[in-house]
Parts: sequence; C-alpha cells; structure tokens
Amino acid sequence: MTETQPQTWVDGAAGSLYDVDNLPYAVVTTGDEPAQVGVRIGEQVLDLGAAARALRPAWTPLLGVDRLNPLLAAGAATWAEVRAWVVDLLTDPGRRDQVRLLPLADVACRLPFEVADYVDYYASEHHATNVGRIFRPDGAALLPNWKHLPVGYHGRAGSIVVSGTPVHRPAGQRKAPTEDLPSYGPSRRLDIEAELGFVVGRSVPLGTRVATAEFADTVFGVAGVNDWSARDIQAWEYVPLGPHLAKSFATSISAWVTPLAALEPARVPLPGQDVPVLQYLREEGPSGYDIEVEVELNGTVVARPPYRSMYWSPAQMLAHLTVNGASLRVGDLYASGTISGPDKDQRGSFLELSWGGREPFVAGGAERTFLEDGDEVVLRYTAPGARGRIGLGEVRGRILPTS
Ligand code: CA
Repeated sequence: MTETQPQTWVDGAAGSLYDVDNLPYAVVTTGDEPAQVGVRIGEQVLDLGAAARALRPAWTPLLGVDRLNPLLAAGAATWAEVRAWVVDLLTDPGRRDQVRLLPLADVACRLPFEVADYVDYYASEHHATNVGRIFRPDGAALLPNWKHLPVGYHGRAGSIVVSGTPVHRPAGQRKAPTEDLPSYGPSRRLDIEAELGFVVGRSVPLGTRVATAEFADTVFGVAGVNDWSARDIQAWEYVPLGPHLAKSFATSISAWVTPLAALEPARVPLPGQDVPVLQYLREEGPSGYDIEVEVELNGTVVARPPYRSMYWSPAQMLAHLTVNGASLRVGDLYASGTISGPDKDQRGSFLELSWGGREPFVAGGAERTFLEDGDEVVLRYTAPGARGRIGLGEVRGRILPTS
C-alpha cells in the first residue's frame, strides 16, 4: 500500500472488501427501472448505466444495458479504460454529485451475462483423487489421462441461474449398487460443487486455437459457481459418456463478475505439475490464483477450499478448450471443477466431506451427508487485492422439494 493511492469518497468503502481495488460488475435493477450495469463499492452500487448516459454517452451501449455481454465484447483495452474511469468516478470528490449510488440492499441482481456455451473442468487433483477413491476403491484414483489434459465436459448453459435463485431437487433415474433395477424419483444424494468460473469476453472463429498467453485478453473475469450435482443420478448415468442430467438441472453463479485486473495481486504459481505437458499447455509466470473459498451450510462454515491448490491453470483450461479448433463466443463460461485442498476441511463437495455418505460431517450441531429440502448453501470467495483483501461475489441457493 502506498500513501499516494487516491481514496474513495464513498462512506465506509475504503479498507473494506469492496474498495476501489476490487470493483466487480453486475446487472442490477431497482424499483421499476430497467436493468443496467452496476459496480459494487462498499455497501453501495454505482449506477454505471446512468453515469455513462450523463458523462460518457459513447459507452451507454456497453453499460446502460441489461447484460454484460456488450462490455465483454468490447475487448481488453476497453475493459481497462472503463475500470480506470470507474476508479476516477469513485475517488475524485468532485464526481460525488455527478453519479448515483444505490444501496446494495435496494437492488436486485439479474443473471449478469447471457451465457453462451458452458464447459466444466475437473482441475483439482485432490478432488479427482478423492472421487476416484470413493467411486473406484479398487482401481487407480486418477485415470491415465488426468495429468496430460484438463478433463472436462460440456454443460448446459440454459440452466445457469443467478445466485439467490431457489433450486428444486431434481428427479431422475437412480440405481443404488444394492438395487437390481433403476427407479424414477427425487435424488437422494443431492450435492454441491464449490467452483470458480471464467467469463470469456472474446469471440474466436472456428479453426483458431487460443494460446495460454492469450488468457488475459480473452477472459474478462471470474464468477463464483456452484455446480449442483445429483450423485445417485450421476453414478447410474455417467458411464461411458460423463455427466448429463445429474448436473443440467441447475448451475448457480454469482451475480458479481470480478475483473481479472482486480485479481492480479492474487496470482500465484501452480502447486506443481509433475508430468510434462504438451507444448500447447505450457505457460510462463505464475498462473494460479490465491482465492479462498468458504462453503456455508445453513449458516455454518463446513469447508474452506483453497483455489491455489488447483493442478491445472485457467489459461491451460482455455487453451485446451480450443486446441481442436472449437470456437469461442462472448459469454462463454468455463468452470474449474470442484475446488478441494489436501485437508479434510478443505473439500468442496459433500460427497467428499461425508466420504460417499459413509462418514457424516457436523454442521450446526447436526450430522449431515447430502442436501435436505430447505437447506441453504452459500459459497463465499476472497482474495488478496491491491489494498488488502477483496471479496468476490457470493453464490447462494436454497433447496426446494422436487416440483
Ligand atoms: Ca463440476
């Protein structure tokens, strides 16, 4: 921290998790007003749509709209210009009367961007090892491909919902190992997956590969992700093509998208890749992120998964996504997969916390395995910022009975 950094004039924001070194974006509404882009500062939201109309009309098409996609599509140079302008608006006391702040409690947040394609990876060695041990106790925990490529699958973009949206318990085909035939009914092993999502702000045509070095010009920022998972449906359906209906009923993302620029101080080296990777997956410099996650169940923190323990970097996941020539679209989202650290209290799924349901964990004095109707899960994320810690958007969801 230096003494020359300008301080924000917004009451209570300086030194908070939402100081001017953070400045995440969302799409907000208040009252009957149309939704538009907002930036969080302290416990307030800067009405960026109104600021653009009044002060930078050329940016109204990017900011006075009900989705982040036009801002994403504007490219990395514009992302930096808008961010510098927002810092100026929030630190120059002369701007106080020119902009409008909305109390955070008075705004409703929409899904922040129209999600194009959605891919989910499996980038935590600790998670993949735990799941391998639980599902295949007699085989190798990691399959032979795992350290050569970031394993992933294509998810369902259309069922991505914003934080706060209730999630109905899915129904589907379930077959326990002790049963001879499948039955149809509500999932009995509904779970969470605490993940981090990467929001693509660049279209890349078919046939073009994106290099690891293009990560910062391609990805706009990050969002929190809870990849709700029905383990009993998953265990029956996933062989041999991977997850399908066990995941596609809902995926929750944070309302707030934190720009990569805010996370620059959080960059750390990967924990170490002990198998050489092919050329297209190589990269220079620190490529991980030191982001702390908290998993809260009904008000009790049950796990603290560390993102810095992830084996594959987000740039490697991006390069892998396009190495076959697949296109990218503005609004594509790819997620990290469950974040689990080496310790028992760092596991990002109930499957692991309860070791397949066999070892209940304690939350709020009660023994728990999988989700019950009425449960509320909140994922919270923080990271080192330029002026102290910054808060990323939370991901909140309550389980409702099967509809
Ligand atoms: Ca997942």
